Amino acid sequence: MSDCLFCKIIAGQIPATIVHQDEWLVVIEDINPQAPLHVLIIPRRHIATLNDLTSEDDALVGSMFRRAAALAKEHGYHERGYRTVFNTNREAGQSVFHIHLHLLAGRLLTWPPG
Ligand code: AMP
Ligand code: ZN
Repeated sequence: MSDCLFCKIIAGQIPATIVHQDEWLVVIEDINPQAPLHVLIIPRRHIATLNDLTSEDDALVGSMFRRAAALAKEHGYHERGYRTVFNTNREAGQSVFHIHLHLLAGRLLTWPPG
């Protein structure tokens, strides 16, 4: 996807602070962090929204959540708590149409979200 911000970051065309990468995922620091830890877990393959997932993506999405848990543990937040969020489409405030799992931690996260 030539006009996708996250595809460009994954291709190295736009700089980002990469905190983890493997065959399937790239994890970057959010440029506008909403908590002391705020990273985005992004599949290398372009998928626009959760609506576009198929059963073939089940392992990929599972790996995104397992990576979130591993990073939360790495930063010492696994017992205190952390939040994982996918925003989908307009009313949820999705602004980049390449799926990404937000991992937020390090402060009291209130509920319901805004
Ligand atoms: P969403 O609103 O769920 O689509 O989340 C998009 C996220 O990407 C927001 O939290 C933005 O702060 C973040 N973001 C936008 N541009 C960049 C960038 N160049 N590098 C890192 N994060 C970004
Ligand atoms: Zn993309």
